[in-house]
Amino acid sequence: MKEHRIPLAGSWRSVGELYTEITNPADGRVVSRVPALERQDVDAAVSAAQEALRTSDWAWDGRLRADVLLQWADRLADRVDEIAERLVLENGKVRREARFEVANQIQVIRYNAGLARSLAGRSHSLGRHVAGLVTVEPMGVVAVISPWNWPIALLTRDLAPALAAGNAALCKPASQTAGATADFLATLAEVGDLPPGILSVVTGSGSRVGQAMVEHPGINMIAFTGDGSTGQRILRDAAPTFKKVVLELGGKSPFVICADADLDKAAGELASAIFTTTSGQICTAPSRALVEASCFEEIAERLCSIVANIKLGDGLNENSTMGPLTTREQYDKVVRHIREAKQNCRLLAGGDIPEAASVNDGLFVGPTIFTDIPPGAPLLHEEIFGPVLTLQSFSTDEEAVALANSTSFGLSAAVFCRDLNRTMRLSREIRAGTVWVNTYNRFYPETEVGGYGDSGIGRMAGESGLREFTQTKHINLDFTPGTIRVGRVG
Ligand code: NAP
Repeated sequence: MKEHRIPLAGSWRSVGELYTEITNPADGRVVSRVPALERQDVDAAVSAAQEALRTSDWAWDGRLRADVLLQWADRLADRVDEIAERLVLENGKVRREARFEVANQIQVIRYNAGLARSLAGRSHSLGRHVAGLVTVEPMGVVAVISPWNWPIALLTRDLAPALAAGNAALCKPASQTAGATADFLATLAEVGDLPPGILSVVTGSGSRVGQAMVEHPGINMIAFTGDGSTGQRILRDAAPTFKKVVLELGGKSPFVICADADLDKAAGELASAIFTTTSGQICTAPSRALVEASCFEEIAERLCSIVANIKLGDGLNENSTMGPLTTREQYDKVVRHIREAKQNCRLLAGGDIPEAASVNDGLFVGPTIFTDIPPGAPLLHEEIFGPVLTLQSFSTDEEAVALANSTSFGLSAAVFCRDLNRTMRLSREIRAGTVWVNTYNRFYPETEVGGYGDSGIGRMAGESGLREFTQTKHINLDFTPGTIRVGRVG
């Protein structure tokens, strides 16, 4: 069991009398303790952030920020394995995925370091003696609130551009994975050139410190990734203080397979994205496969044979290819959906649930595939956030698009097809922030992500992601002769 310390309001806070215990979802053992903060700690972190922005060059000097981010990336590179192991212990994901998640942030941070140096405004000539200077400023103090499924990646996706743009940040990690996140953020807090107070880590429950941050008048923006119901709550709680809110929420992504596609690749990418990647606990999980009728049986067979070879087990065991679900609530929710679906859908694979899994058995649920699902069934439109796939068939492209767009979400989608005209038509007509063609779950720091409909508000990553953390000011300059004088030096 490890006790984690956190950077808070310009100094370090260790585990004191109030703390949160984190358990390993593979066996129920307590693996970490983190400080459980209170509302007054949020006040202290906000005051320190405001003071740091007022007294340091952080908000004004993109080169300083780039330098700090690059130093962070270098430090992180030395600690990937250690942080990844903590992530396996707290989240349950397999070690290969955890390592990828942590190591991949190095390039995200470096990309944002580059943006910090190139963030620029523009000028307009608005008359013989009038200029308009359009400047780009940071929002101020930003709260980054993140979930437990990809806790390091989803935090960095917001934090790196927030810092690159010159903001101070309060990070509220998900409680289930707060130890791994604290270790990860310690690599930034230890960078000597980071002005004290620019980064605080606010561990504690969402309903206490999370809500305190959302309501705080000194916080100028919330960047939230998580569940839609929490997102709605945040919008309501942020309204009295008019702060900017960016939301990255859930999904119910369609995965369209046309008969001419590389069917082996399609089945392999689908199984990886809905089953072995974080046990289906990923917002982009392609939980609805839409398969052209003429290749439906072939795809179903391929999926069943892939599933038969998936090895469910502790993420630290090198033989495991899929870990447990991360939280007891998530386990109960997935099990409930599977039990209900078994009543009125045809089960193609999996679906075995131990009658009453005790915490020490681990929160394991195997890959499960259903077909012949009645229209309107919850399985077709609710986000399950687990290894549960539905298979539906289509005969025309119009039908494929109608099925793809039949939920309130619009986060991501896939089109597997060899015909370029057909691929482009489907990709354009599916309402989703990302459409992957003949591949899935490819994320790059350069390219935006975000949702249509219930999947969110705003865009993360890429240049638009950075711009979310800025505000624009117009300085209008009248330099008619006699109205302005350039002062002498000295
Ligand atoms: P969640 O329950 O909404 O929690 C997310 C974060 O919000 C946690 O840090 C949580 O703290 C905090 N929180 C809870 N109540 C709050 C409140 N009233 N005010 C402020 N903060 C509050 O989501 P989750 O269960 O961790 O994550 C799963 C969900 O995230 C799924 O719906 C998934 O689709 C979505 N997700 C979306 C994306 C995307 O990019 N679109 C990516 C990944 C996940 P505690 O941990 O202390 O409760």
